[in-house]
Amino acid sequence: MAEQNTDVQTEYNQLKNQIKQWSIEYYQNDKPSVEDNVYDQNYRRLQEIEEAHPELITEDSPTQNVGGQILSGFNKVNHDIPMLSLGDVFSEEELSDFINRLNNNYPQIKQYNCELKIDGLAISLRYEDGILVQGSTRGNGTIGEDITTNLKTIESIPQKLTRPVTIEVRGECYMPKASFVKLNDQREKNGESVFANPRNAAAGSLRQLDSKVTAERKLSTFMYNVADYNDLETTTQDGLLEELKDLGFAINPTYRVIENMDDVNDYIQYYTQRRDELSYGIDGIVIKENDLALQEEIGTTVKVPKWAIAYKFPPEEVKTKLIDIEWTV
Ligand code: NAD
Repeated sequence: MAEQNTDVQTEYNQLKNQIKQWSIEYYQNDKPSVEDNVYDQNYRRLQEIEEAHPELITEDSPTQNVGGQILSGFNKVNHDIPMLSLGDVFSEEELSDFINRLNNNYPQIKQYNCELKIDGLAISLRYEDGILVQGSTRGNGTIGEDITTNLKTIESIPQKLTRPVTIEVRGECYMPKASFVKLNDQREKNGESVFANPRNAAAGSLRQLDSKVTAERKLSTFMYNVADYNDLETTTQDGLLEELKDLGFAINPTYRVIENMDDVNDYIQYYTQRRDELSYGIDGIVIKENDLALQEEIGTTVKVPKWAIAYKFPPEEVKTKLIDIEWTV
């Protein structure tokens, strides 16, 4: 028995170290060495071990921290209200289990809002009396990087809102597919390394010390959240998106309010089939309980909101790598 525990401890430590290494490559260097699904499978295994052996969990576990590294060269920004990640599921069955559990715990839930999961990186924009005063990355969730000057070069980000409100708005900065292809072509011609995907290209472009470089990269944004919903007039997630639009933000118009699992599955099918036709990358669907006051009541873990979940699309090619073993199915 003691030997078995040592084996689990060894596997746990190896997984933790491997995932931390991949996180540095992904978040800090914008150069992942493995596909996202490989990362996700190993992360899932770490979660399984922690569920079976909660005594092994340490504070530095990737499950206890929002991934992200702060690059030197940028001022730090404290997120008084943390910027969180999202829990994820990888099948309609897992999704249905999540929704059923939430509905059982909160029978007052009436609606969910389905949104596309934009494949970019999270940003936060702070406005005082309607004027953009600070923009930052998610970083490790509580401390991000001040990238105000770079964000000001992005056309879809309003520098002045339509009303003089004081508000912190959150959303996704992404690189449109066309900009990504053009950028990588150019880099290849120049003999420079190419970006693995639009998400890494967006992250690399946003964290530039020279904002002229950011401006050339043609980034865009979709905003989908606020730090404190009391700053809004609306009471629902879909209303929040519309209010952000009225304030002058770009929002993704594909969201859909749904009331049952069949409609969630329809939404998933619809965008799984049309994903390639979109001008920006998506890596899944986000399903959010729609009532903002209830979102607050349901709350969060240290890492993710408990009122939302990301359904991740299956990878194009199923490639599995569990630490030392690699094979393609
Ligand atoms: P995530 O990307 O899985 O989900 C959370 C993020 O989704 C949010 O922070 C937000 O930025 C984004 N998002 C996009 N659209 C949204 C919407 N409509 N509503 C709310 N949020 C939305 O989580 P993460 O913590 O940013 O990253 C973890 C993921 O990154 C992993 O699951 C893996 O796929 C990838 N990753 C890959 C590697 C690698 O080596 N390949 C390493 C680290 C992480």
